[in-house]
Amino acid sequence: MAELPEIIILAKQMDQELKSKEFLAGELRQEKSINLPSDEFIQKIRGKKVIKVYNKGKWIFIQLSDDYYLLLNLGMGADILFHESGSESPEEYQCYFQFTDGSSFSCKFWWIGRAELVQKKELPEHKATKDIAISPLDDEFTLEHFTKLCQARSQIKNLILNQKKIGGIGNVYIHDILFKARLHPQTVANTIKPVKVDHLHNTIQHNLKNSIELGGLAYEKDFYGQNNGFEREYFLVAYNEGKPCPECGGTIEKIKTGSTSSYICPQCQKL
Ligand SMILES: [Zn+2]
Repeated sequence: MAELPEIIILAKQMDQELKSKEFLAGELRQEKSINLPSDEFIQKIRGKKVIKVYNKGKWIFIQLSDDYYLLLNLGMGADILFHESGSESPEEYQCYFQFTDGSSFSCKFWWIGRAELVQKKELPEHKATKDIAISPLDDEFTLEHFTKLCQARSQIKNLILNQKKIGGIGNVYIHDILFKARLHPQTVANTIKPVKVDHLHNTIQHNLKNSIELGGLAYEKDFYGQNNGFEREYFLVAYNEGKPCPECGGTIEKIKTGSTSSYICPQCQKL
């Protein structure tokens, strides 16, 4: 499942490739993954130009001319793929958009992805995106901001994964972040000492930046169908249950934390 690093990489590639292209046509095969009847969707997007592409949390915002936005959510994972003019059209997709220059892109959602066409004036009321919180790599994600969030009585893992509090981290990058910060996922946020909150804030940003530099997780495809930068071996504790902790040599465990699983070193991350 794509998290902030993969989404940021994809949005940047889309921005570079699609800027100023004009929508010509498209095919939407699955009504439940779009917000308008497919005919209306295509009719409305035709003639609109891409102004820029960026991400907000896990959503991709494609800003269009005439004050419209095409919003994409990758759900549990998706292949959003670019096709050059003259290349063979893809076979598997829920959404396919063609531009006037002959190029196109397709969206194949693995599970519960979305494509929505909305007007700018609808954004403040757009349920899924209006409350997306500041992301760890936004300028506003200061230590002061994070410290305020940590005054909550929720478990630190739940807090970081709550998209209304912090945008973009899911149940992949969280494990190594908490391991590096030496925090058990069920530690109550408002009991964490200021020096540790500072360390955690740094760790979150450093971990995500480093993952972007390395090209993101290799099981996600980028806009050009290439597998991103690194394999699961990159992780220190995530997906490594039964293996030795790189810090103390103890055994890494997979534990249940509410509705999610967590990978921890019980020695290094005491509750
Ligand atoms: Zn350890």
